[in-house]
Parts: sequence; structure tokens; C-alpha cells
Amino acid sequence: MPEVDESRENDDLRKRLAEMTAEASNNETIMKRTQARELTLLRADTLSQLLHVMVDGLRESYALDAVSVVLLDPQHEVRHLLVAGGDRPEEFKQIFFVDSLVGLAPQLAVLHKPWLGPFVGADHHLLFPGIGNLKSVALVPLPRKDRVTGALCFGSRDAARFTRHHGTDFLSHLGAVGAVCIENAVNRARLLRAGITDFLTGWHNRRYLQQRLKEELARAQRRGGSIACLMIDIDRFKAVNDGYGHLAGDNALKEVAHRIEGQIRSMDTAARFGGDELAILLPEATAAEAARLGERIRDVIAAQPFALNSQISRGLTVSVGVAAVSPGRDDADLKALADRLVADADAALYRAKALGRNRVQVGAG
Ligand code: GH3
Ligand code: MG
Repeated sequence: MPEVDESRENDDLRKRLAEMTAEASNNETIMKRTQARELTLLRADTLSQLLHVMVDGLRESYALDAVSVVLLDPQHEVRHLLVAGGDRPEEFKQIFFVDSLVGLAPQLAVLHKPWLGPFVGADHHLLFPGIGNLKSVALVPLPRKDRVTGALCFGSRDAARFTRHHGTDFLSHLGAVGAVCIENAVNRARLLRAGITDFLTGWHNRRYLQQRLKEELARAQRRGGSIACLMIDIDRFKAVNDGYGHLAGDNALKEVAHRIEGQIRSMDTAARFGGDELAILLPEATAAEAARLGERIRDVIAAQPFALNSQISRGLTVSVGVAAVSPGRDDADLKALADRLVADADAALYRAKALGRNRVQVGAG
């Protein structure tokens, strides 16, 4: 009965073809969706935005019950960059910054391709704290070159969502794109920070201070407040370099910056203006308040000797110039106002030097 065989064969073929077409169309849908998700990662402008997109964006677009990201950050650099960008790493509740991948989940230590399977409390609860009833998980490596730099962790309450029978190509690709995005965002944050940071003290540099000064003046103008500036210069600093070497000078400069940090408010901006000259910008402060801070700083520097190296300590002093300004509503040229504030503080500093150093002088305002 060849006809029957043929028709059954045809049926089988048609069925197989329909299955393959459905699978291809399904794959195409998945691919398009994955590409769209990857694009949102690629478009993130900053590190913090990227981390948000990775956690909240992926959770929503994949309709998952939980997403977390494990990031290898042994030098705490990613966290420092986040802080420098004005973020608080502890607020990224679903991001785990770790020194090593061992410890959070057994699979992470040997994760070279996505691992899909049942949620096992003992193995996975650390990855999804506070989220109950998870049934399946996908752990996707974030690979860079020949290393794994972290993992995307997806959790679902549907046991059939991630099983070892599912293909992992799309997830592998997502992980690779995610890892590149993280590296780019970290590099961008590094560059941004390098451009506005002084290497020796870790303080902001003059460029940043000038930018910030304009912003603060605009704010003071809106609110009708005043803003003060301190210029601090180490007295006879050249003698430290000449007598004990450049490295000893560097150590002293770092320690001066460190002691000043202990005196200023979190809303103040400290910057290395250049050489041994440091500047502090005090929003919402009068000249008298700034002068009091100047006195405290003068005091804390003069109070104790500085360890220049392991053998030698020596006393140092600083001179401080203070100026303040209250921008009027019709002051249009904030740049000129900023320049004048700095020039006034500098002139006051010059007077402090001329009067014998180790003193605070308040300038015109
Ligand atoms: P004055 O009391 O008038 O300020 O005397 P001074 O010797 O401090 O003179 P001045 O401020 O003009 O000189 C600053 C010196 O600081 C000159 C320079 O060699 C030194 N200096 C500038 N930047 C650095 C640095 O990054 N490290 C070290 N070690 N020294 C620096
Ligand atoms: Mg000096």
C-alpha cells in the first residue's frame, strides 16, 4: 500500500516542516528580543545607569521574578567609581560586588557557559536574597578575554523557565555583550574621574573646582545665599623638598590634604588648585564662617609634626586666604564672579604670607 505510506510520510514531513518553521520563527522572535535588550545595555550612558538597566531592565523585559548581577571587584574600583559619580553602591541591592566568584554559588566558580537548571535553596539563596518560591535559575557568565568577570543571575518561579534542555546561545551572547558594556562603562568612568582628579591627594583638580564654582554660584543666585572660598598654601614648602626630597614633600602634601578633609563638611568641595595650593569651596557660608574654618585648618596643621618619611618628622604651617560672595539676581556673568571670588581669596592669601605666614586673612567680598 504505497499510497498510504506516501501520504503518512507527507504528513510527517509537513508536520516536521511546520515545527521547524515555528521553531525558526520562535528563534527569530527571541533573537529580536535579545537584540533589543542588548541595545538597551549598549545605550546606557553611565555605570550606574548600566547597572540599573541590567537589573531592572532585564527583569522587566524578560518578565523574570528576580535578577541579580555578580561583579568581580577585588580592588573595590567599581564601587569607588560609583561613589565618585555621586552614587551609593549599597543602594544597588541586586548587585553583588565580590572579591572572588567562589562562595556565592557553587556554579559560579566554574561558569564558562550559561548554567540553567532548578533553583536549589542551599546553592542559590545567596544570589536572590529575600525572594521566595523560585523554581528555576539561569546563571550567565560575563566573560572578558579569558576570564569571567561576573555573572548575570536570572530567577523564575516557573520550573520550566530555565532547564538544561534549553539552548544557551542567546544567553551566552547577552552575557558577552553585558561584559563589554561593563568594561566600557568602567573605562569611561575612569577617564572622567582622571580628568577631574588630582592624583597625589585624590582631591578634585582646578578644572573641576572652576566648573563647580559656576554651578554653586548659580545655585546661590537662585536661593539668594552666599558662597565662600578658602585658598590654603603651605608655608615654605620648597624647603621640605629641598631638605628632604620630593617624596617627603609628596607625603607632607598628602597628609595636609588628609588633615583638612577632617575639618570640612560633606557639601564642601576640596580641590588641589596647583602645587602646594589647595582650595575649599563652601556653599551657603559667609566670610566669617569660612574664616572660622580657616582657623581650624591652620590649627590642625600646626598642631602636630608631619612624618616626612619613616625617620623624619617636622612641623609645617599653612597660610589661608578667605573670600565670600553673594551673587545678586542681576549678576549675569557668573564666570567673572567666579574669577573674582578666587582672585579675592588669593589676594587675601598673599597678605597672610606677607604678614608672616601661619595665619588667616579675609579678603574683600
Ligand atoms: P611660601 O610660604 O611663600 O608659599 O613658600 P613656598 O616654599 O611654599 O613657595 P611656593 O608655594 O611658591 O612653592 C611651592 C613649592 O611646592 C614649589 C614646588 O617645588 C613644590 N611643589 C609643587 N607641587 C609639588 C608636588 O606635587 N610635590 C612636591 N613634593 N612638591 C611640590
Ligand atoms: Mg607654599
